Amino acid sequence: MGFTAQHDGRGRLDATQADLGCGWAWEAVHRTRPRVVMLCPECAHPVHAKVSRYGLRFFAHDPGSPTCALAGESMEHHLLKLELATAVRAAGYHAELEVRGPDGDWRADVMATSPDGTGRMAWEAQLSPITVDEITQRTARFAKDDVRVCWVATKLRPWVGEMPSVHVRPPSDDEPNWIVAGGLARFTVDRCEEHLLCRSIGHGEWHETTADLRPFTAWALTGRAVAHPLPSWLHTEQHAWTGVWTAPQYITAAATYQQAHDRAVAALEQQQRLRADEQRRRREAEYRAQRARRPTAPATPSSEPADRQPTVPQQVSRTAPRPEPVWQVNLPSQDREHLHAAALAEARLLLGVNAELRYRDGDRRWALGTPLYAGGRP
Ligand SMILES: [Zn+2]
Ligand SMILES: [Zn+2]
Repeated sequence: MGFTAQHDGRGRLDATQADLGCGWAWEAVHRTRPRVVMLCPECAHPVHAKVSRYGLRFFAHDPGSPTCALAGESMEHHLLKLELATAVRAAGYHAELEVRGPDGDWRADVMATSPDGTGRMAWEAQLSPITVDEITQRTARFAKDDVRVCWVATKLRPWVGEMPSVHVRPPSDDEPNWIVAGGLARFTVDRCEEHLLCRSIGHGEWHETTADLRPFTAWALTGRAVAHPLPSWLHTEQHAWTGVWTAPQYITAAATYQQAHDRAVAALEQQQRLRADEQRRRREAEYRAQRARRPTAPATPSSEPADRQPTVPQQVSRTAPRPEPVWQVNLPSQDREHLHAAALAEARLLLGVNAELRYRDGDRRWALGTPLYAGGRP
């Protein structure tokens, strides 16, 4: 089933519009004798106008159609497409359904065009499973033609969040509207007494939030919400998000907070270094004092000169402790290389990604470990 059909004289018919998008009434194509000849825009097989049990208008393929992407679309897919088209139109944008790209390498479920005709954004109801690679490629094909895209999912598949996407919930008895249930977030800085760092700069964190699909569609079209890859996962009860939609001011707030955080970490580490230096100086002084109190051995030709400075044991002269677990510090470099290689192999095996190691500084940001990066993300 599809919302569009091709007619020889009228061009593209759109069942979601009262005048079929061409100044024709639904009655002019629905149950007419003789039949109006209309073709599927995807496979060019004849289609006929139909109304669902719930009053939804669409075009159905005549019997014996070839395998066609539009023929195979489910009712749920169809309803979501209709909702997306309605949301785009409510935002004051032009919506076209089932639009093919100039090179034929993409087909948009709903193509939104700005009132001045300059900005285009595809809204894709992606209900069937798809791999991260595939959806990345499809996003790139849209981008090549200057089309932004938002993938809309009704199930939390692994790709959700990897590309600009949202998780939506259909209307129910309790909630008459389509809801963006996941993929929308805001950044807050709250008072926190629990963590040492937070006492000075507050506790900054991304939080998931929800909205009705219609206002969200308007925000995304007009830039009040933008797709934002996160520097690390946002874990919710249902999903680990690597990217979210958010307002530009939250992105600024998060960047400002990160700078304050890095400065606070640097200050804390400086403090720790000073304290460690101070402790070392005290230990050295104690050591010298102990040596001075020791009874002098009887003079022999091989004894050291009395004025020689006491040597400080290696352990005492160590510099400030690295913020790294002891086992890792003590790991011979060859074993460390083996560990890193094993981690990369594991990532390939379990997740099918070619990862690389970055930031071997054992920073707190990486939980004192070494992050694996896949596709620019930790
Ligand atoms: Zn078809
Ligand atoms: Zn905190």
